[in-house]
Amino acid sequence: MLQYFRRRSTAAIFHHPLDPAPRTAILMDGFQASRSIRVFPGGWSEAVSRYQPSTIAAPLEYLRDLAARGAATELQHAVIAFTYDANGRLDEDDREVLWTAFGVPVFEQYLNSRNELLATECEAHAGLHVVSGCGGLATDKSPCPCGSTAPRLESPRILVPELELVLA
Ligand SMILES: [Zn+2]
Repeated sequence: MLQYFRRRSTAAIFHHPLDPAPRTAILMDGFQASRSIRVFPGGWSEAVSRYQPSTIAAPLEYLRDLAARGAATELQHAVIAFTYDANGRLDEDDREVLWTAFGVPVFEQYLNSRNELLATECEAHAGLHVVSGCGGLATDKSPCPCGSTAPRLESPRILVPELELVLA
């Protein structure tokens, strides 16, 4: 199945953290649409509003921007933040900001430049389960509360500035 899609299109397959996937708007190009997934290459618009997604997915930078503009409406299920850089991962501040803006939990998905899934956050929000690659990144191999035994990339925590000074 994967092979078939790959030959047909260079667009990546979107893996929703919730199963079955609720109505989802992906606010960027590069993904395949499916029954419950619609792709909006131009980002948030009236058309997205009319689609009434219960989940939106977009690069973290774009979601921060949307949240700051107060552009999007409240959602029902989730916000999915795509990150592409091990040094630019979703942090606690982002979770707070996105929760305030959209009123739903955030799930991070770590992707490569072709939007292929490398690691994904589960409903336990206890790190990102490695799907492929991620060599060289620190992982937690303890069992996850969600039941999966796939190693997890740890989510970045905020360091208190004073603590950093003490450590330095
Ligand atoms: Zn898990």
